[in-house]
Amino acid sequence: MKTYDWIVIGGGITGAALSYELSCKGFTVVLLDQNATLQGATRYSYGGLGVWSSTSELMRLLSQEGMEIHRSLSEELEADTQLRELDLLLTIDSNCDPQSVLAEYSQFETPPKLISAKQASELEPLLNQEAISGALITRYGHIHPGKTTQGYKEAFRRAGGEIQIASVLELLRVGDKIQGVTTKESTYFAANTVVCAGGISRALLKATGIDVRLYFTHAEMIEIPPVEFKLQTIVMPAQTKRFQLEAKASTAELDYLWNEPGHELVPPILDAGAIQFLDGSLRIGQISRVLTDPQATIAPEQSETAIRAEVGKVLPTLEKLSGTWHSCLVAFSNNSLPVVGKLGNYEGAYVFSGFTKPMLLVPTLAKRFTNWISGQKDSIIPQLSPIS
Ligand SMILES: Cc1cc2nc3c(=O)[nH]c(=O)nc-3n(C[C@H](O)[C@H](O)[C@H](O)COP(=O)(O)OP(=O)(O)OC[C@H]3O[C@@H](n4cnc5c(N)ncnc54)[C@H](O)[C@@H]3O)c2cc1C
Repeated sequence: MKTYDWIVIGGGITGAALSYELSCKGFTVVLLDQNATLQGATRYSYGGLGVWSSTSELMRLLSQEGMEIHRSLSEELEADTQLRELDLLLTIDSNCDPQSVLAEYSQFETPPKLISAKQASELEPLLNQEAISGALITRYGHIHPGKTTQGYKEAFRRAGGEIQIASVLELLRVGDKIQGVTTKESTYFAANTVVCAGGISRALLKATGIDVRLYFTHAEMIEIPPVEFKLQTIVMPAQTKRFQLEAKASTAELDYLWNEPGHELVPPILDAGAIQFLDGSLRIGQISRVLTDPQATIAPEQSETAIRAEVGKVLPTLEKLSGTWHSCLVAFSNNSLPVVGKLGNYEGAYVFSGFTKPMLLVPTLAKRFTNWISGQKDSIIPQLSPIS
C-alpha cells in the first residue's frame, strides 16, 4: 500500500498548479481527476487576468505577484501559456448613463477610461455603435487556460508527479484524520489531501461530513471554432451581473438551502461578452445559474438563443456563427476571496478553491500554500482559511 505525501483532487487550473508546486518542493503527489481530458470550468474559461480590478490591498498584492509569475511561466513550465496583453472593452448599454457607470469603477486599483461609442467602434470595428452609449477601456492580461493547465500538468509529471484518472467518492475519514480518498475503483492513501474539485468541492466535502462555505454556479457559453476575422479587443459588459448574483446566493440565510438539491436560489443572469483566442476560436457567453444540484440538467436551446441574441446586439457578426453550447460548474466563495487552507478540525485535510480570479491568482497562491504547509510563515494564507 503506497502512501503519498499529498493527494490533489481535481485537475483544473487549481489542482494542476498546486500539484506542480507541491512536487517541486519534493513531496510525493498524486493528482486525481475523473476525466482524462480537461472538462471543467478551466476548459471553458475566457482566460482573463484582471490585474486592474483589485479593490483591496490584499488583492492588489496577490494580483501583482500573480502577474509577475505569469510573465515567466511559459519559460518555467516549458510550455506556451499564450500570455499577452490587449484592450478590454466594457460596453455600456445604450439606455445607461456612461458617467454613472464610470463612477461605479472608481473603487478599482486602475479604473478604466471612458470613451464614446464612436471611439469604441473605431477600436473594435465589429462593435454595433447603436447598441451602446459608450464604453470603458483598460489593458487586460490574457492566457490560454487549457494550455496553461496542461503546461502545469506536464511540468508536474517531469518533477516526478503522478496523474491518475479516478472519480473520488469521498475523503477517507478515520476519526478526525483524513487518510486519503476512496474512488469508484480503489482507495488512495496520503498524509494530506487537498480538494481542488471546482464546483464539486462543496459536495465532495459534504459527502465526508465537512461543511465549507463554498458555492457554485452553472455557467453556460458557446464555443466557436476558428474564424477568419479578428476581434481587436475582449468585449464584456460594463455592468457585470455575475458578482451580484454570487453575493446574493452566498448569504448566510440561504446556506441551509445549498444542502438540498432542487433549489434555484436567485434568477439566472446573462453577461454578454466575447473573447477570441490566438488560433482564431471564440468563446461567447455567459449565463450563470444558481441551481443547488451540481448535476442539474439545463436545456441548451433556450440558453443558446439567449446568449446569441445578447452578444449579437453588441457584436452582430458573432450572432449566427456556428458553435457549440457548453455548461460547467464554477466555484465561488461568500467574500470574493478564495477558500484556501486547512479544514478546521480535520488533520490532513485542505481545500484550495472558490477563486474569483483564478487565472491570475492561482499561480501565486499555489506557491504560497506550498511554502506555508512546508512550515514557512505566510501573512495571506491564514486570511483565506475555510470556515468549517
Ligand atoms: C465562461 C467562463 C469564463 C471565465 N472567465 C474567466 C476569466 O476570464 N478569468 C478567470 O480568472 N476565471 C474565469 N472563469 C472562472 C475560471 O475558469 C474557473 O473558476 C476556474 O477554471 C476553476 O478552476 P478549478 O480548478 O477550480 O475547477 P475546474 O476547472 O472545474 O476543475 C475541477 C476538476 O475537478 C475534477 N473533479 C470534480 N469532481 C471530481 C471527483 N469527484 N473526482 C475526481 N475529479 C473531480 C473535474 O473533472 C475537473 O477537472 C471563467 C469561467 C467560465 C465558465
